Amino acid sequence: MPELPEVEALTAYLSERLTGRVIAEVRPVAISALKTYDPPVTALAGRTVGPVVRHGKFLDIEAGGLHLVVHLARAGWLRWKEHLPAEPPRPSTRNPLALRVRLEGPDGDGFDLTEAGTKKGLAVHLVRDAAEVPGVARLGPDPLAPDFDLARFRALLGGERRRIKGVLRDQSVLAGVGNAYSDEVLHAARMSPYKLAADLSEEETARLFEALGTTLREAVERSRGLAAGELKAEKKLGMRVHGRTGQPCPVCGDTVREVSFADSSLQYCPTCQTGGKPLADRRLSRLLK
Ligand SMILES: [Zn+2]
Repeated sequence: MPELPEVEALTAYLSERLTGRVIAEVRPVAISALKTYDPPVTALAGRTVGPVVRHGKFLDIEAGGLHLVVHLARAGWLRWKEHLPAEPPRPSTRNPLALRVRLEGPDGDGFDLTEAGTKKGLAVHLVRDAAEVPGVARLGPDPLAPDFDLARFRALLGGERRRIKGVLRDQSVLAGVGNAYSDEVLHAARMSPYKLAADLSEEETARLFEALGTTLREAVERSRGLAAGELKAEKKLGMRVHGRTGQPCPVCGDTVREVSFADSSLQYCPTCQTGGKPLADRRLSRLLK
């Protein structure tokens, strides 16, 4: 799933290509991806694209007073096309195309929103104000916002009785951090994902805040200037523990381990993060009982 750094890079990439251009046509293909119907997405035709911005993991393309707000979810993606065919795309179960936006001009360039797999989560909204999208309205502060400082971070964690791993990826606490970057931030902070947020000492909170900013900024930096098609591979390459179960930790050489967490799994390094002790896996202990 694309998280803050990838959506940030995608926003910059699209901004360069879309702003000032006129939308010729919008074709919805996978109707299930459309979460709003008034105004219809076809109302974008003839409008000039303004700013392209990010809210957490949401992409927001403004055009003539309307906002196309997209959440790519687990398997959604955006593909830029220099030449889109003029004939309408045919919906099919094997075709991952969900929505096509073609721009005016001789080339017929534009983009496709696609979603692979059977679990559909891609969400496309067309609204007059991005805050009309419930997922956007719920978002907590953006960790890369200029006014997001240690005091604000400390206030978010105070009295929070959940495990820090779950808190970091809760979009209503912090906007844009998901399963992958929360693993990376905790590894950079040398902190157990199971630690209760409210139990963090002043020093630990400061260390985590530092790791959060550094990890995200480095990832944004790596992704900057990359084409939409290259972002997923870049995200994978930059990971130190996430998705690297069984591989050596690049910091200490210990083996990266995995435990189930909430609806997925998390990866961590025992030596760097949990004093060398493997975390108890609830999934595993249930099986053994
Ligand atoms: Zn390590």
